[in-house]
Amino acid sequence: MSLGNKASSLILPGATLGVLGSGQLGRMFAIAARRMGYRVHTYSPDTDSPTGQVADHEVAASYDDLDAVAEFAKQVSVVTFEFENVPSATAESAARFAPVRPAGQVLHISQHRLREKTYLREHGFPTTPFRAVRSLTELESALQELGTPAVLKTAGWGYDGKGQKKIGSLNEAASAWESLGTSEAVLEGFVNFRLEVSVIAARGLDGSFASFGLLENAHSNHILDVTVAPARVSPKVAAEAEQIARGVLETLDVVGVLCVEMFLTPDDKLLINELAPRPHNSGHLTFDANVTSQFEQQVRSICGLPLGSTELLKPAAMINLLGDAWANGEPCWAAALALPEVKLHLYGKASARPGRKMGHLTAMADSADEAERIVREARRRLNP
Ligand code: AMP
Repeated sequence: MSLGNKASSLILPGATLGVLGSGQLGRMFAIAARRMGYRVHTYSPDTDSPTGQVADHEVAASYDDLDAVAEFAKQVSVVTFEFENVPSATAESAARFAPVRPAGQVLHISQHRLREKTYLREHGFPTTPFRAVRSLTELESALQELGTPAVLKTAGWGYDGKGQKKIGSLNEAASAWESLGTSEAVLEGFVNFRLEVSVIAARGLDGSFASFGLLENAHSNHILDVTVAPARVSPKVAAEAEQIARGVLETLDVVGVLCVEMFLTPDDKLLINELAPRPHNSGHLTFDANVTSQFEQQVRSICGLPLGSTELLKPAAMINLLGDAWANGEPCWAAALALPEVKLHLYGKASARPGRKMGHLTAMADSADEAERIVREARRRLNP
């Protein structure tokens, strides 16, 4: 089938969807897609991956193997991704044989902090104050301009706090620059945020837009720990955040799902921290708590189908399960599930390394506070 054909047509159940990456986001995408009658192919260097376990077909090849990527794209009606750090050439190679949604350009911008922040600033979106840094001298002058504390982050390939260093004073500059071991970085002013929040939204082929509303996120060691929906903020802040997200998806001409992570300052200003051009950990609770999950919305949007209702059925909270929970053997699943409001999601990962995302729990309740209390209690019960 030629790309022309594929690009213009509605992709209906029975068709095959391709996903680059094979982690838990791809797994939940595949579950949503298969439930709707699609077939799913996944591509990553790994075998028996979280996505591969539930996909129809798992291709294990390097992202640099452009012939294998092209072959993969020929077999599917559309390519999406669950992991944005695939090389641009990979997306380009796939795009010769199937539409890539969101497009490679969105990937290109959002996989590089400096490009992303520059793009956002140039298009009038509120970002954390930042400077590009390509040498120790540039770092020192950036520190003088932005002040301390500040956070130095590698420009590319960073996630979950990897590749970043907090700098408390000017005389820490040299050691911070050395420890990052990169030739290109971003220095950000440290934001004394009141809350971290995110908006996950989808945009259809026809420009339709749907957002899951504002989510409230708590991190631990730079890794997302707990998400609560709806975020406990004023309606004004929630509406502003959704407006920002809508602007971002429209400006980037996204077809698919994108997450905008933001800091809420003590005086209720929203600053974008980063974008993820795919479903996001903070939206995992939508799998249980919303009429349409972020994963089904990804399926619908990349297939040209109408977007589903994002209505939150009940206040909900999600808590991540990291490999650390296995430190003393298998967690006590039954004890957590004895709380009837709790849902368990495990990603099928073989080895439980500390810090590795192995699964999550979601709880729904009559209020956000109560959902959070229950989900925290559920996790405590895993390791009595
Ligand atoms: P990131 O990998 O950039 O999403 O950063 C991971 C986490 O580090 C964020 O969720 C924040 O908790 C924290 N962080 C990152 N950048 C800043 C900043 N400029 N000011 C304060 N905290 C930050």
